Amino acid sequence: MSSTSPPTVALDGRFARELAELAVPWQADEPTDPRLLVLNEPLAAALRLDPAWLQTPAGVRLLVGVGVPDDATPVAQAYAGHQFGQFVPRLGDGRALLLGELVDIDGHLRDLHLKGSGRTPFARGGDGLAAVGPMLREYVVSEAMHALGIPTTRSLAVVATGRAVRRETLLPGAVLARVASSHLRVGSFQYARGTGDVDLLRRLADHAIVRHHPAAEAEQPYVALLDAVIAVQASLVARWMLVGFVHGVMNTDNMTISGETIDYGPCAFLDAFDPAAVYSSIDHGGRYAYGNQPLAAQWNLARLAEAVLPLLHHDPERAVVLATTALDRFPGRYEAAWSLGMRAKLGLPEDLDPAIVVPLAEELLALLRDDHVDFTSFFRVLAGAARGDAEPTRRLFPDHRAIDAWLTRWLALSPAADAMDRVNPVYIPRNHLIEEALAAATDGDLTPLHRLVEAVTAPYDERPGFERHAAAAPPDFGAYRTFCGT
Ligand code: AMP
Ligand code: MG
Repeated sequence: MSSTSPPTVALDGRFARELAELAVPWQADEPTDPRLLVLNEPLAAALRLDPAWLQTPAGVRLLVGVGVPDDATPVAQAYAGHQFGQFVPRLGDGRALLLGELVDIDGHLRDLHLKGSGRTPFARGGDGLAAVGPMLREYVVSEAMHALGIPTTRSLAVVATGRAVRRETLLPGAVLARVASSHLRVGSFQYARGTGDVDLLRRLADHAIVRHHPAAEAEQPYVALLDAVIAVQASLVARWMLVGFVHGVMNTDNMTISGETIDYGPCAFLDAFDPAAVYSSIDHGGRYAYGNQPLAAQWNLARLAEAVLPLLHHDPERAVVLATTALDRFPGRYEAAWSLGMRAKLGLPEDLDPAIVVPLAEELLALLRDDHVDFTSFFRVLAGAARGDAEPTRRLFPDHRAIDAWLTRWLALSPAADAMDRVNPVYIPRNHLIEEALAAATDGDLTPLHRLVEAVTAPYDERPGFERHAAAAPPDFGAYRTFCGT
């Protein structure tokens, strides 16, 4: 592709066509003075978008949704959702737009979607806008998650709009362009079910099967779809737990059918290991605390099962049995994924019985919790113990007795240090580093942000010059709070 002549951007409108009842055609706001802050060039190339062209004024106009091809149909998507347990029948994209779908270099369909593009008919009391800080936060954290091998929506670009956004103070506004294998949510099914139109519900399920779970084209396709979503979510949440990720707002509208992590709002990574860790300022009851995430996911999947009941069987009692059977498989699947991941984190052989791995891991986590040990750096330090130097590990614990006994048992299993370093990250988007990078970016300096992105997009590869990015939060960082109202 050349960067001088405008390339053709093949944006399909498949969702808008097939599910018009869930799609409100809408236009993005015209930005006052658009300025590209960050562009994900490898992702652009994977989407067959020319990175050089995306940096031209016409490319930036695409990235904020006002320069879309003539035949594109940007839409605001309708969905419902349980927010902190409370059902809201009509949420939808209040400040977001689906521009359409692109086919990537692997032949996969990818949604191109905007956040912060102006009020839509779903905006309720909201202003439809987003601030630079939270959009850059989603950019960094989602790209870090991707580099960690965790299914996630991706971030293509953040463009400053030149317009001020009123939050606690006036902040610079921005639009995030993000990419997902789709934006179908548990809440999309709840919305379709709420319309009472079973044909719409079936078309939504068929659309989801084709896009995400083609293996579900089975004898009982909708039971197979439910089962497939339960499987991908069990695996996803296990992977969050294994890297210490706290999503923060696991409402059913923020849970995908694809199994990708979505809607990075008040999310954070654990510093010290603590199952009760909550960062979101609005999660007063700790509903979405780190340790509650598997249960929260299972609860959300039960809401999905309820929504699709009419598709599972014409006999309502049979439908409930099928849904319950599928849901009952969640805990086993979650535990299998978690113990497999823990085995790898501890460098233990693949054929080691989970009945040995799980209690060993649980005892270790209890020690980390009791002594407030930094979760991420612990596993890298522990690889040193596998190499023969246990002192740095021992120093993390004020009382050595318990960790010494644990180390003896673990070392007897011959852990493989190099294998540990391939699965335990050195660099995660630590809360204090994100705050520092976003504050600088809001003041116009993007250098710390670019450094942070550089660190976390090669998370296992320890490099000189990034020592600060590997270190735990300074003791004066204190209790971390994240804010929704993003
Ligand atoms: P979230 O918690 O960010 O996933 O958003 C929940 C709901 O609130 C969704 O329907 C969003 O589209 C909507 N929303 C969040 N922020 C805004 C805003 N500033 N303006 C309009 N709608 C918003
Ligand atoms: Mg959301």
